[in-house]
Amino acid sequence: MVILLNKNNKDNNDKENTKSINKDYSDWIKAGEIASKVREFSKTIIKPGARLIDVADQIELKIRELGAISAFPVNLSHDSFAAHCTPISEDETVLDKQLLKVDIGVCYNGAIGDTAYTVDFSGNHAKLVEASKKAVENALKILKIGTTLGEIGKVIEDTITGYGFQPIRNLSGHGLDLFKIHTAPTVPNYDTKDNTMLEKGMIIAIEPFATTGGGRIRDTTHAEIFMKISDKPIRDVFARTVFEEIKTFEGLPFSRRALAKKFPLPRLNLALRQLILNGNLQEYPPLQEVNQGMVSQHEHTLLIEDEVIVLTK
Ligand code: MN
Ligand code: MN
Repeated sequence: MVILLNKNNKDNNDKENTKSINKDYSDWIKAGEIASKVREFSKTIIKPGARLIDVADQIELKIRELGAISAFPVNLSHDSFAAHCTPISEDETVLDKQLLKVDIGVCYNGAIGDTAYTVDFSGNHAKLVEASKKAVENALKILKIGTTLGEIGKVIEDTITGYGFQPIRNLSGHGLDLFKIHTAPTVPNYDTKDNTMLEKGMIIAIEPFATTGGGRIRDTTHAEIFMKISDKPIRDVFARTVFEEIKTFEGLPFSRRALAKKFPLPRLNLALRQLILNGNLQEYPPLQEVNQGMVSQHEHTLLIEDEVIVLTK
């Protein structure tokens, strides 16, 4: 998953993000290892002719088999959609010629591994895929304690524009914390001149997006991904029952598809609508490039230590 850049999260960069991270990083290393394994497994099942819903179910099953839970529903976002697409419960999409972003999040004892890659089944976007991949690689080369967020953004921007594409400027990488997929700092995908420095012990995700469009995304409608944001009292009995089930996701984002395995869809849809209106849930609608340009993404989770460790290698 990805964070939308706005003024508020830029201002957050001053605050420490690592207070609750134990100095023993073993759970973070384990979460990263599981995320990598699941990513490599996903490459064996993501192929033309595969049903998107089977791919999603198998990825999420693999996460559980390896002893973790999903940190968020697997994002399978096609073509001009940058992120936050996940199959609906009765999805009939079959992989064919899509440019597909695969974004996987794993949570192990609260520690999170977040990693993404892009596959191009159209055969037309090899350079676009390479641009975001190289942007991560080039950013990794300059990462150390003291590197500024602006410097990271500049390397990403220069790499992507060097290929003739645009970085998506209003999507960013982010810090990670226990059971929190997005915390400070906000790691930009262009040169924001932000002088905030990486500090020892930070855990961050770098996730550049490259596009053939103008380089901005917008929210669309019909979210399939939600997250609990408040325990406010709920009047409706059925909505309350659904909310009890939602609490099992540990405050992490979840899909309508996951709940539809337990509740009939029409009533579930109504309950989710009520929970949003009541302020209990936040929606994550699919994010689409404003010019409907094609979009590629790559992502790794990193531990900033004396030596930077790629946790999702
Ligand atoms: Mn991600
Ligand atoms: Mn991320």
